[in-house]
This record gives sequence, C-alpha cells and structure tokens, in this order.
Amino acid sequence: MILFKYANQLSSYILQQKKDGKTIGFVPTMGALHFGHLSLVRVSKSFDDITVCSIFINPTQFNNPEDLNNYPISIEKDIEHLISIGCDVLFLPSVDEIYTEQHIKKHYELGVIETRLEGHYRPGHFQGVCEVVDRLLSIVQPHNLYLGQKDFQQCIVIKKLIELTGRNDEVKITIVPTIREEDGLAMSSRNLRLDKQQRELATSIFQELNSIRRNLHTASFDKLKAEAKERLQQKGFVVDYVEIAKTKDLSPAVDTSEPLVALAAATTGKVRLIDNVLLN
Ligand code: AMP
Repeated sequence: MILFKYANQLSSYILQQKKDGKTIGFVPTMGALHFGHLSLVRVSKSFDDITVCSIFINPTQFNNPEDLNNYPISIEKDIEHLISIGCDVLFLPSVDEIYTEQHIKKHYELGVIETRLEGHYRPGHFQGVCEVVDRLLSIVQPHNLYLGQKDFQQCIVIKKLIELTGRNDEVKITIVPTIREEDGLAMSSRNLRLDKQQRELATSIFQELNSIRRNLHTASFDKLKAEAKERLQQKGFVVDYVEIAKTKDLSPAVDTSEPLVALAAATTGKVRLIDNVLLN
C-alpha cells in the first residue's frame, strides 16, 4: 500500500494510473476502521483497479467540539487492516493539507435534506461533509465513490453534492449495506466509546427499527414511531428521532406505495448512535 500525505503527490499518482487505463475507487473515512469500512474497501477492490482509502477527521463537520475531541484514533491499526485486505493507497492528510490557505469556504445549496433529521440535530454538519468531500473528490478524482448505507442521509447529501458540482458524468456512487455486530448493532467508530452496559443497550436501536419493519402494515406510522421512541427512552436513551421516511428525500412517509426507511438517532451516556433499516 502506498501512503500519501500530500494532495499534489496523490493527484499526480492518480493521473498516471488513469493514463494507464486504470479505474479508481474511493472510500473516504475518518479512521478507527472496523469491518464496515473494510467492506467498502472490499467492494471497491472488486470493481476498481486502484482503491484509495482516505483517513481524515474532518473538523468542519463536527457541530459538537466534545465529539471531535473524543473521536477515536487508531492510525497504526488502521494501516495494518488496510494492508491486510490489499488496499492500494491510503491518503492521510493533515488539516492544513485539506484546508489550505487558498481554500475558499462555499455554501452548498442542498435544499430541505440539509435540515431534516441529522441536519436538524447537527446544524452545519452536512455543509462540513460537503466541504470535505468536495475537496477530497477534487484531489482523488475517482470513477467510483463507495459510501455506507449506515449514513443514509449522508448518501443523499453526497449525491446532491455531485449534482451541484457538475460531477454526474465523472463519479458514480455505490452504496454498501450496513455491517453489523452479531447482536445487530451497526458497526461504528463511536461504539468504541460505549461502556459495557451501554454496549449491551445499544442494540435496542436496531431492534426497534426492525420491529417497525415487521409491524409496518399492522399499525399507523405515528404509533410505530411513538412506541419505539418510548421504549428507547425507558431504557435511558435520549432520543433525537425515530422516523419513517421516503428513501428518495427522507420526507415523512405517508403510505407504503413508495420505498421507505426507518431511521433513528439516540444517545446513551455521551455516545450518539444512528442507524436505519429499509422497510419495503
Ligand atoms: P466514517 O469513518 O464514519 O466517516 O465512515 C466512512 C464510511 O464508512 C461512510 O461511507 C460510512 O457510511 C461507512 N460506514 C460506517 N459504518 C459502516 C457500517 N457499519 N457498515 C457499512 N459502512 C459503514
């Protein structure tokens, strides 16, 4: 695996690979890699000649400074994992390398998706995501971008970013299913911060989303959402939302004639967890 710390060196390498007719797959991450991240790398490896993974904890997408300060870091282990599964390139830039003096902060016109659900509870988050992904895409110039379904709303936002920045013909997005622990908890770097009791409770989020899926046709959406929220609260979670929404834009579901997804965000201790399950 080749490790690049500087954007211009990575860009020159990519240019050469493209000249040689190679396709480039890109997996952006914030590190503390788990099997969820690695499955994205595996999918990229199965479709593309060169797989680039980036590890960059993007400060501009954290609306909560404590969350940023506590974000887990395990670079050495991450590098071992990436080598072991045959990742070709790791991009490991500093903050100054991504946000250079020439960097101009833009505003991305994301529309209503920006303020729904995660956007409502994490103001500014998706602008930060777009800022870093826009910059990373301009450095890596991939043919394929691999994203996890785990961050469902982020996938919609990044699709929009690609439209807004005129990259529709250059980059194709592939969404990879969520990888889970044996008990169903969606793998997440933040799970490392759960203590034993919180870790045991954390699987309830997935259980509630699954229960919504099973009971979709037996009760009203409002009842299903309220009951799921109530049960999570009884277990001590602070629940931001449990929502049943249309997959295309996350607007609230009306009936089952369109593809739907159940999404939840809840905090146990100081750890905020998100998850989602496709419903129909
Ligand atoms: P992160 O490091 O949290 O920014 O995640 C990097 C990428 O990995 C994003 O596209 C995530 O959606 C994806 N990802 C995170 N957790 C999982 C998971 N459990 N299964 C599949 N993909 C995931």
